[in-house]
Amino acid sequence: MIYDRFKAAVSRYDCGKFCSPLNDGSPVCCSTQHAVPVVDKAEYKFLKSRTDLWHTFKPYDAATRQIVAELHHSCCAIECKGARHCERDNRSVACRAFPFYPYITRQGEFVGLGTYWTYEDRCWLISNMRVVEREFAQEFVAAYEYIFSKDPEEYATMKSHSAAHRRVFSRRNQAIPLIGREGGFLQVLPRSGRILPLPASRLPKFGAYVSQAAYRKAIKDAGGDDEVTFTATLRL
Ligand code: SF4
Ligand code: SF4
Repeated sequence: MIYDRFKAAVSRYDCGKFCSPLNDGSPVCCSTQHAVPVVDKAEYKFLKSRTDLWHTFKPYDAATRQIVAELHHSCCAIECKGARHCERDNRSVACRAFPFYPYITRQGEFVGLGTYWTYEDRCWLISNMRVVEREFAQEFVAAYEYIFSKDPEEYATMKSHSAAHRRVFSRRNQAIPLIGREGGFLQVLPRSGRILPLPASRLPKFGAYVSQAAYRKAIKDAGGDDEVTFTATLRL
């Protein structure tokens, strides 16, 4: 089963501690107010055979109704009981991979890990890609190689998602940062799609995570005074 081969921690930090103070105390990717896990129906069946952690997601507004309406017939949207009830071994592939997706070039090559850029303002990890463990990236690549070998629809979805990423970042005139499948970081240049190495010192930061001062201000604006979280961030 793929879960046995894709279980490495994304980093040695509990990154939910860094994003949750800006999201009413809940990790952004564990709240369906922000991210709705989408799984293959076979994966949902498998999860239900192991745990009662998950139930079918009920859309609550126009945006979430659209997410559900646009799902491929082999997929479904699900929701867990929340971060306090998380069962590490019963996380979906979507949970394990977040905030990364397999980036595929125009020519169809799976070259590394891209980020779900629409979360860049809220997800601390997207602004701190240098903390991602090599073992996680290796397991991610192996897991998606396996998924693509079984499921051409998923490959087509990720290829199209990568093309959308190139379009958005070309409009912004920004390079797409990637974790290379062989290690290190890469950048996909806007418009040409050319791929070059990216020094870790030039990895981008976004939103409240651009600086310690911005993070401190965002925590204050959110009504928090969590010095522990802030101190942990300072150590990075
Ligand atoms: S992956 Fe991003 S959104 Fe999810 S817990 Fe970590 S920092 Fe928060
Ligand atoms: S199963 Fe765990 S990681 Fe996945 S959404 Fe729920 S709390 Fe988050």
